[in-house]
Amino acid sequence: VALTPEIALALHVVVGEERSALVDSGLPISRPLIDQLLAHADERGAPVRYAATTHAHHDHIGNHRYLQSRGGLVVAAEGSRWWLADPDVNLREFAFHHPHILGPTDELLAELRPTFDGPIDADVLVGSSVVLDLGGGVELEGFRVDGHLPSELAWFERSTRVLVLGDAVTGIDWPFFHGHLAPDAFRHTLRELAVFVRERDVAVVAMSHYAARGQDDFLRLLTEVAAYLDRVDHAVRDAIRRPSTLESAWRSVCTAFGKEPEFRSLGMVAAHLDELVARGEAELTAPETYHLISTTTKTEHPQ
Ligand SMILES: [Zn+2]
Repeated sequence: VALTPEIALALHVVVGEERSALVDSGLPISRPLIDQLLAHADERGAPVRYAATTHAHHDHIGNHRYLQSRGGLVVAAEGSRWWLADPDVNLREFAFHHPHILGPTDELLAELRPTFDGPIDADVLVGSSVVLDLGGGVELEGFRVDGHLPSELAWFERSTRVLVLGDAVTGIDWPFFHGHLAPDAFRHTLRELAVFVRERDVAVVAMSHYAARGQDDFLRLLTEVAAYLDRVDHAVRDAIRRPSTLESAWRSVCTAFGKEPEFRSLGMVAAHLDELVARGEAELTAPETYHLISTTTKTEHPQ
């Protein structure tokens, strides 16, 4: 599915001997492609039993209800429950988390509302990991890869050693920031994925918004995305060397990267700032006004 001229969305079905799993279900408008994947699984005698969810962004859950209506079970990370259950909460927290800076315009609502389907009652909520047995030795292992969102799952098919990711490794060449709402967790996930693909000798990594690739190419991508995360971190720190509001820090990070300022990056910059404050590396000098604490003036603890 072409989401925009620059951004594609890939959909994946994992077919076992008895059952199949869709990894994510696209947007509501992706229905014809979902039907193709369901038909493919049916032809193989392994009807789709699971919607193996990576995360609760609208372009990953748009046909979950449709799948449930056909007897499918929605399996998702604990923490995505309310975004699944309430599309209004999802839309508000996805796009309008700081309405005094970026509020819902008619234009944006008209663009976003139709991309959300109705409420989804998740059947299985995954804390740390889960294994879905699809029959004939085809096993889909779900594990946490948080960072892009605070709760996200990766799905690994053990017999073919194919790893399917949603947005755990974010797009970095888009005209706007793809974004990450838990920067520390994101850094950890990038490191952990590098260990995982080597330890489990992953053959192919399939992703929602990148073309599928082999292990070496994927490891190179992880290095690039980690370097990009460092650049975002530096840009956020630069933006608050003098006390700066969230809005001006967000705008200056977007300018530094030549990216269109929109809601994803506003959430991302706010998350970076909150983590800097939580770690004692920045302080709030007024409501929503941040100031970097110079590292040279911080007390050095003897080792
Ligand atoms: Zn996403």
